[in-house]
Amino acid sequence: MSIDALPPLRAVIEAHELSARKSLGQNFLLDLNLTAKIARLAGDLENCDVIEIGPGPGGLTRGLLAEGARHVLAIEKDPRCLPALAEIAEAYPGRLTVIEGDALKVDPLQHLTPPIRVAANLPYNIGTELLVRWLTPDTWPPYWQSLSLMFQREVAERIVAVPGSKAYGRLALLAQWRAEPRVVMHLPPGAFSPPPKVSSAVVHLTALAQPRYPAEAKLLERTVAMAFNQRRKMLRSALKGLAPDIEDRLVASGIKPTDRAETIGLEQFCALARTLES
Ligand code: SAM
Repeated sequence: MSIDALPPLRAVIEAHELSARKSLGQNFLLDLNLTAKIARLAGDLENCDVIEIGPGPGGLTRGLLAEGARHVLAIEKDPRCLPALAEIAEAYPGRLTVIEGDALKVDPLQHLTPPIRVAANLPYNIGTELLVRWLTPDTWPPYWQSLSLMFQREVAERIVAVPGSKAYGRLALLAQWRAEPRVVMHLPPGAFSPPPKVSSAVVHLTALAQPRYPAEAKLLERTVAMAFNQRRKMLRSALKGLAPDIEDRLVASGIKPTDRAETIGLEQFCALARTLES
């Protein structure tokens, strides 16, 4: 059974000649029952405004609206998609606003009323950049309550990775410091049109009221980025550019200077960032 009275997505794509463009990361979801399921995993939408990046022909947009989102603000770079999105806006009067533009440049906040959630099947080439921006505002808590984001599976694994694993690094630390990330769905390449080369996964991140451990955000980011830039090196050499007495500061944070970044947990990285404040 269809989730709404609009035409099936294949017909929409055909009618508006939306052949997928690789340069825009266009791998469309065509199964509306699947997009409605992804929308349900985003949490209770009824009293929320939802930001969607890259609505494309509108599969997830329709899922979000059918699942009761109060208002969806969709930012799409490809002008070819706008007529299809206008048809959805007409079917859901007053509940969908579409902005044509680059999600890296548009500030969506002026159009939104809290509480706000983010839900997106992200273009692969800007997904990580957007996630890092959502996780590193100057003040916390952020404007969003949750992020429900489709990534390539390998990126999803990096977000939820634990110390000692190959996937552990900057993304895991930034995500787990201020949010609770969970992989909530796996999707095979065949769920998309055209199918990408790799599997995908939806990660749901709930913003914590405050970071798990105190630390100054910019210092923590810088420390972690440096530590994992040379992840095979001992921390005393990987971090020597941070402070002349880095060995003492590592010891004061409970870290052995000969340890490598991939074995160090979030609590210790935050302790190290605090010792670097002075
Ligand atoms: N949401 C649709 C779906 O699930 O079928 C499309 C997802 S597709 C993976 C990514 C979408 O992001 C495309 O529609 C593409 O045009 C759009 N896009 C790519 N780069 C963008 C950018 N910088 N800002 C906004 N949208 C972008």
